[in-house]
Parts: sequence; C-alpha cells; structure tokens
Amino acid sequence: MTRDLTIAEVRLTPILVADPPLLNTQGVHQPYTPRLIVELVTADGVTGFGETYGDTKYLELARPLAERLTGRSVMDVNGLFGIDLGVDASRVEGQVDAGGLRGVQSADKLRLSVLSAFEVACLDAQGKALGLPVHALLGGKVRDSVEYSAYLFYKWARHPAGVACEQDDWGAALDPAGVVRQARLLKERHGFTSFKLKGGVFPPDEEVAAVRALAEAFPGHPLRLDPNGAWSVETSLKVAKELGDVLEYLEDPALGTAAMAEVSAGTAVPLATNMCVTTFGEIKEAFTRDAVQVVLCDHHYWGGLRNTRQLAAVCAAFGVGVSMHSNTHLGISLAAMTQVAATVPGLHHACDSHYPWQSEDVLTERLRFRDGRVAVLDAPGLGVELDRDELARLHRRWADDDGALRDRDDAAAMRVAEPGWRQPVMPRW
Ligand SMILES: [Mg+2]
Repeated sequence: MTRDLTIAEVRLTPILVADPPLLNTQGVHQPYTPRLIVELVTADGVTGFGETYGDTKYLELARPLAERLTGRSVMDVNGLFGIDLGVDASRVEGQVDAGGLRGVQSADKLRLSVLSAFEVACLDAQGKALGLPVHALLGGKVRDSVEYSAYLFYKWARHPAGVACEQDDWGAALDPAGVVRQARLLKERHGFTSFKLKGGVFPPDEEVAAVRALAEAFPGHPLRLDPNGAWSVETSLKVAKELGDVLEYLEDPALGTAAMAEVSAGTAVPLATNMCVTTFGEIKEAFTRDAVQVVLCDHHYWGGLRNTRQLAAVCAAFGVGVSMHSNTHLGISLAAMTQVAATVPGLHHACDSHYPWQSEDVLTERLRFRDGRVAVLDAPGLGVELDRDELARLHRRWADDDGALRDRDDAAAMRVAEPGWRQPVMPRW
C-alpha cells in the first residue's frame, strides 16, 4: 500500500517541566525548565514526535519553520536541513550556550538544535508509516539495550523558600556522604553501574573527596567528573593526578580546545567533552591536537540522529571514543537517544541522561532503566505515545508563566538564594 507521507499539519507545544535544584558551576536549575514538543502529522494521519529546547530563541525559529513544512514529505530529511531558518548570526555568534554549559553558541548550532526535533519527528513518522523502528531506518540496531550512567549532582533538598515548585524525594547532596547516598539511590532505583558527578560547584579538593568516596563505595565501577571547564590547566592536571587511578574519564576540566590540549598532553587520564567539540567545524583542531579522547554527542545540537551517526563515524576514523551528553530532557528524546545509540557500533561508554531527575513526562508510559540500561524498542517509529492530558497540563504551566521561566537561566535561579551571585569568571579554580 502506498502511504501519503505529505506533512498536513505541524503542532508545536512549548511546555515547562519540573526540575529539581541541581547545582552546576553556573548556578542551579530553575524549578521548571522549558522544552518544545514537535508533532508532524501526515496526510494519512500518522503523527511523528520530536523534542528539543523550549527557550524563546528556539521557539522563534521553530514557529516560522513549522509554517513552511506543510506540503513537504516526512521522507525529505535532506531537504529539511536545506531550509534557511534565517538565524540572525549577530545575535548569537560567540555567546556561550545555556549559560556556558554547552560550549560556544553559533548560528548553525542554534539552527541544528531546532531542526533536530523535526528530523526526529520525521523519522518517527517514517517508521510508523512503514511499520519499522527508527533504528531500522538508521541501518539497524547492533545491541538490544543501551547503557546509561547515573548522573550525580550536588543538590539542595529543595528550591529556595517561596519559590513555586514540585517537591522531590532525593534530598540534599552537598558533601561526599550526600553524593554517595544519592548514588546508592540511583543504583537502587535504576540499576546504574557507572557514575558521573557534575562538578565545578565546590573547590576541587571537595569534589576529589566525593569521587574518592564513590570509588570506595563502588569499587571497580566507572567514574567520571565534569566541572564544565571551571578549572585552570594546572588545577585540571592536579585533579587528574589525584584521581587518575579511579576515573574512566575527566570531562571538560578546562575551557576550550587549547586548554584541553594542554591538559591532555600532561595526563594519561582520557578527556571527554561536550563543550569544546560541539559542531563538525570544531573537530579538526581538537582531534589533530589530541585535545579530547571521547566526544559526548547530543543529537539536539549536533543536528539529529543521522548527524549523530556521522559524528560517530568521524570519531571512529580518528580513534576517538564517542558517547552521549544530556541536558534536561523527556522521554521522546530518551527514546531518540536510545534508538540511535543502538546503531553505533563503537559506543563503549555509558551514555548520560537527566531522565531519572524528571518526575514529569509527556509519554503515556515512562521509559525504564533496568540494570542501568534502556531496552531498544522494536515498535514502529520511536515506539512511544503522547499523553495529551499531561502535555496540555505542562503547556498550561508554560502559558501561565509570566516569562520568568521560559528561558533557562541557572545564574538567575541561583540569585534567588544568593542575591549577589554572578556568572563566574572562568577558570573559577
Ligand atoms: Mg559535560
């Protein structure tokens, strides 16, 4: 039977999702974080889902794009990436992304961060129309489940008093004992066997002590530490020396390719990044200088699932490892990450995911981690369904917001608790 894969309708739904008070070097997560849910409906009534950042700058590009998609085919993904979104480069070039946590912003990265949600929605619709899982459209899975690591955060017990928010039951984690307690909980609830600590929050000695405590509590388990570029080269090398015997890798200890290359030259501890290699254009310098040994891909800003596979191929050619980065995301993105990760042969490190921190989702059924792994679904498309009541509820929260939370700003959230807080000058230590 021939299907009509013409896009008949595009639905964009910005939402605000509850987020616990997770700390990083820039500040703290806001009580709600913006996401955008994309739906492409074909003439035959098949609906493909995608998800990306929901901040204003992404919405401003997604809305006119959505209007231009009706009449095109969900099969024409190459054509989708050829659409000029008219990004005003002067507004973004040289800025740091997400308050300095995702590297340098550029017009192209912004463009890809929007297009990726539509690419995922196209692939989901294609799969549903053809009766095939997304991994089959990408060449087929090479594993039946994808491993994720426990993503540990320094964390307050709750958002500052007086701030409207959902409660969480994770408690505080502000010292080595708290970090180990959190790790045990994550392992208990989801079975994770590797651990990543988001660092750059406290002086390096305290974070070294936390990783040491994890190594003692979980002997032989892979451990990572990610201070988001908060350290000087000297501090990075000191930490690498102190933790060299227990770290699987050190993630973005210093900011930028030049500093990372200097750190890399002085230590045998592998360096990973989601900050100095975030676009294809940044690969050449970083790889030829041996600045990083593992690239953490993120299909949102790398431009989708097909680009993720291309990045993995380039990494393989240079003998550089590949794994996955995560920002706050919901189940549509976790399903997309899992589908593409299932097709990458050289994926030797557990992927990152914030998903365990999200108590809310727009799926009818949450995805589950078992033994730290997410099963690769073989149902058509991404294999997930939207809970429309929940989507509407989270959209109402976005619509009711006065604008204060529609753009992620970790420093602003920190100022609620510490009015004098300023975005730190790097390196902090
Ligand atoms: Mg990182």
